[in-house]
Amino acid sequence: MNPAELHIGIVGAGPSGCYVADALGRKLPGARIDIFDRLPTPFGLVRGGVAPDHQGTKNIARQFERTLGKDGVRFLGNIAIGRDLSYEELKAAYDVLIITIGALEDRRLGIPGETLDGVYGSGQFVGWYNGIPDGRELEPKLDGKSLAIIGNGNVALDIARLLGKTPDELASSDLCAHARTAFEAARIEDIWLIGRRGPAEASFTTAELAEFGELSRVAIQVDPAQLPQILPEGLPEEQRKLAEKNLEVLRTYAAHEEQHNRPVRIHFMFHAAPVAILGEGRARELVLEKTRIEHGRAIPGGETFTIPADTIISAIGYRSTPFSGLPFDEVRGIVANDQGRVEAGVYTVGWCKRGPQGVVPANRADSLAVADLILADLAIHQTGGKPGGALIDSLFAEHGVRPVDFAGWQKINAAEVAAGQGRPREKLARIEDLLAAARG
Ligand SMILES: Cc1cc2nc3c(=O)[nH]c(=O)nc-3n(C[C@H](O)[C@H](O)[C@H](O)COP(=O)(O)OP(=O)(O)OC[C@H]3O[C@@H](n4cnc5c(N)ncnc54)[C@H](O)[C@@H]3O)c2cc1C
Repeated sequence: MNPAELHIGIVGAGPSGCYVADALGRKLPGARIDIFDRLPTPFGLVRGGVAPDHQGTKNIARQFERTLGKDGVRFLGNIAIGRDLSYEELKAAYDVLIITIGALEDRRLGIPGETLDGVYGSGQFVGWYNGIPDGRELEPKLDGKSLAIIGNGNVALDIARLLGKTPDELASSDLCAHARTAFEAARIEDIWLIGRRGPAEASFTTAELAEFGELSRVAIQVDPAQLPQILPEGLPEEQRKLAEKNLEVLRTYAAHEEQHNRPVRIHFMFHAAPVAILGEGRARELVLEKTRIEHGRAIPGGETFTIPADTIISAIGYRSTPFSGLPFDEVRGIVANDQGRVEAGVYTVGWCKRGPQGVVPANRADSLAVADLILADLAIHQTGGKPGGALIDSLFAEHGVRPVDFAGWQKINAAEVAAGQGRPREKLARIEDLLAAARG
């Protein structure tokens, strides 16, 4: 097989798509690589998920940008597979097709009251403040005094931290202007961080937890009675180490006494499973049931209690969104695959392959492993000879769609950075504004 005759298509220009493009570009010099994204902008959750006040984490985008700008690589933005091109069309075009569509859909709580006004999934809420165009018009209700976040991962902490920060503390972030305005107008006094399980089982990381200690207007409330003196038996080693470090931080929060006159309180509440959301048309209260842990699982104990909650955000995980024809595992909410193989010539990498877990670098290891698998398969099957970009370009003409290319993205980037005025950037959050910037 001559790599120069090989056409590779990648669906999704998030971290996984960029890492796998880089790996295959190095291993198969001369191969043509097309990377599609449904948005006019690349980098997936690095742009649309990672917290706007964690700019250091977003630096990885510079490396991804170098990959997208390489000879032989094309970025084809604003092309959603399932809408602008079909899976079958991609299979006809590419010798190797890799699905890296992430996991964008919020998992549901599955409790009564979930559809009341004021209840959001974290994907929706984070997408709104981070300028993902689908969420631009969400206008979440932040007008009440009490807001509850359900989930004990870093996403829950991100949301609580951002809401707890003062405008000055957000000044160096790229939080979108519409979200800054809404945060400044909000009058939230109590933010509840709710975990079904205990602090020993929480999946948030210590650095993120420790950041709460730096928030100037926030009083952190931790009930010392919820912090175990001894860790439960049978915790996996990695979780044990994390739990020890997290408990150390939580104990310092529990001992804080001098914060009583601060205007915002963040309450860490463990062993509480959501049972129902109450309110007439609009969420007003969250009913919780006390739990105990058995073999790492939260077991409801029958005793319920209620907290006020005018806004509720569930941060309990995500599912991938399949397009027609894509083999899909409905139970796990991921692309059906065997170690990354989907069907002949089709592979998958990243959150849509493994589920919504792991930080950005975890997708690099995954991408390298699947790239090796692809190379091994190519050596056996002698694949090659499909039309690649030529077919895709004729389909674009036929379907009347025009992608945003890499130069278009660079124009968007320049426009956003210029509008930042001291901030890293001011994101364009509407499709029409992004397209106008891309087309100069
Ligand atoms: C709120 C949040 C905060 C996070 N914070 C951090 C952090 O601080 N540090 C860290 O290391 N990790 C963080 N992560 C995890 C990190 O973002 C993921 O590990 C990583 O983004 C997964 O990469 P991916 O490429 O698999 O998926 P994604 O990043 O989701 O990329 C998938 C891409 O596919 C595109 N796509 C989807 N469907 C289609 C379609 N039909 N057609 C074309 N394109 C499509 C999407 O637009 C997207 O660009 C965070 C995650 C979330 C949700």
